[in-house]
Amino acid sequence: MSRSSLMPVFDGHNDVLLRLIRGKTQPERDFLKGDNIGHLDWPRMKQGGFVGGFFAVYVPSESTSGGVDVDALMARPQYDVPLPPQLELGASQRITLHMTSLLLRIERASQGEVKICRTAGDIRTCIDSGKLAAILHIEGAEGIDPDLHILDVLYESGLRSIGPVWSRPNIFGHGVPFRYPSSPDTGPGLTERGKDLVRACNRLKIMVDLSHLNEKGFWDVAQLTDAPLVATHSNAHAICPHSRNLTDKQLAAIRESRGMVGVNFATSFIRPDGMRNDNTPLEEMIRHMDYLIEHVGVDGVGLGSDFDGATIPAEIGDVRGLPRLVDAMRRHGYDEAILRKLCYENWVNALERTWGR
Ligand code: ZN
Repeated sequence: MSRSSLMPVFDGHNDVLLRLIRGKTQPERDFLKGDNIGHLDWPRMKQGGFVGGFFAVYVPSESTSGGVDVDALMARPQYDVPLPPQLELGASQRITLHMTSLLLRIERASQGEVKICRTAGDIRTCIDSGKLAAILHIEGAEGIDPDLHILDVLYESGLRSIGPVWSRPNIFGHGVPFRYPSSPDTGPGLTERGKDLVRACNRLKIMVDLSHLNEKGFWDVAQLTDAPLVATHSNAHAICPHSRNLTDKQLAAIRESRGMVGVNFATSFIRPDGMRNDNTPLEEMIRHMDYLIEHVGVDGVGLGSDFDGATIPAEIGDVRGLPRLVDAMRRHGYDEAILRKLCYENWVNALERTWGR
């Protein structure tokens, strides 16, 4: 299939940088030439129509959740995965800089094929010219010092989006544990430092991502920020009552702010039973899309794959399966104009509203 016949997809979340820093000697080369591991590399992205998205810088915990077998746990009908302990700044900062440098090196080694985008105009130019539009995003600000000095450095390196917390607690706030069934109202929200971080993001026009915040943190941001409310990779709580999904009240606030939700491909956030199980029909994902369109509006919904960070439906498989998802959306009844909105236009417009022109 030629690339021009593919629906372009701009995506709200991926973890390819984390995949690439693990045990690779030439990660930028492996990404650009294609290593065929996991969900994403540049040759496969071109085959799937993936034109850009948020590239997460995420500091992994050494022992995930204290040695608990998370896969086994999340295959049960109910679960509450214990969160790993808070991380220390020094080591977190080192990994944050390592992963930021990896995206910069990918951009440099790509000789113009990959661009770290700083404006919506950058993204549009990339989509029109077949380049990969990458947004440097932080998922969990463990690598950022309390006085936010490194924020200025990262901003100059292209950082344009931050989720103050991954689910693990940090000096900025508390996230949601992976719990099913559960309300997202699981604990305290942002700390005073977390509020300072949101204010600094507003000043710099860095997007604040709500996806891993608990409900109190969500409302803390909603109260403080002057930007649209955005959850890059979360689904509808009414369909799948997982702690990571958004309640109707949260969706109404996102709509009110002219914000955005990226539909997560992770089966535990899609399936009404909350299970990590790749035998999950695409229709189940599209139910979330319908619901989110109804509650946030047709201009406020996009995709947020979690590629290389989650168990996704087997029918998608990896990024090359995106056209199968687009076909399923088309068969479901979305016309071409709606498909374009959901697949990329809404993201670009929401970023323009957040970053300014
Ligand atoms: Zn995430």
